[in-house]
Amino acid sequence: HLSNRLQTVADFVKADARVADIGSDHAYLPVHLAQQGQLSYGIAGEVVRGPYENAAVEIQAEGLTDRIIPRLADGLAAIQPEDHIDTVTICGMGGTLIAKILEAGQAHLTHTERLILQPNVGEYNVRRWLQNHAYEIQAERILEEDGHVYEIIVADPVATPITYTPVELKFGPFLLQEKSPVLQQKWRREQARLDQVITTMQQAKNAPAAKIAEFQAQRDQIQEVILNASK
Ligand code: SAM
Repeated sequence: HLSNRLQTVADFVKADARVADIGSDHAYLPVHLAQQGQLSYGIAGEVVRGPYENAAVEIQAEGLTDRIIPRLADGLAAIQPEDHIDTVTICGMGGTLIAKILEAGQAHLTHTERLILQPNVGEYNVRRWLQNHAYEIQAERILEEDGHVYEIIVADPVATPITYTPVELKFGPFLLQEKSPVLQQKWRREQARLDQVITTMQQAKNAPAAKIAEFQAQRDQIQEVILNASK
């Protein structure tokens, strides 16, 4: 009964994991992982009281209070050293917020954890944070569910930081290789949006030429990626 989106996240959690699910809401992900025997210990972190209570109710209802602890905390502050967390999941938020949570909560990471991140938008910010903090992307997925396109980024800590190109940061190093129709669809939509913005700006006589050129460059970059992905 888990969404395809969260099931895809679950697929990247290793056996017997100790998982901190940050922004857990109903704690569906850690509960599912426990029921599948994938999770030996879990934290369901929530910064808002309502969702935190949802998590507590769900964990109780599924009889998992011995293994999953709901915690009311901001971001990675839900993680304590004695939890020995080896997997952090942050799903269903914007990429800017995910990067902010990682940045603010670095003291709660030991740089040994696998990060499984599911930004709804703004994936660029997530990949750039990973690059700047010596996490290497291991896998990426893109999927459509209920009319929304979701990306999942799986990263492990590495000794030597990886450098991604600007195009890889924006579109995803693995997604560029995979050439999924969902990727093409997502970026065709963005291209159409940019086309409208450009047309509107061109009609508004006082729009700055540099700004128009910037949008056109973005549009052309997307065009190239779509062409490559459809080869
Ligand atoms: N992770 C679940 C999923 O993917 O279905 C729930 C996603 S829900 C849209 C986002 C949740 O993140 C909300 O419940 C919100 O309260 C929580 N959240 C937002 N900022 C947070 C933060 N800084 N720390 C912990 N939780 C946060």
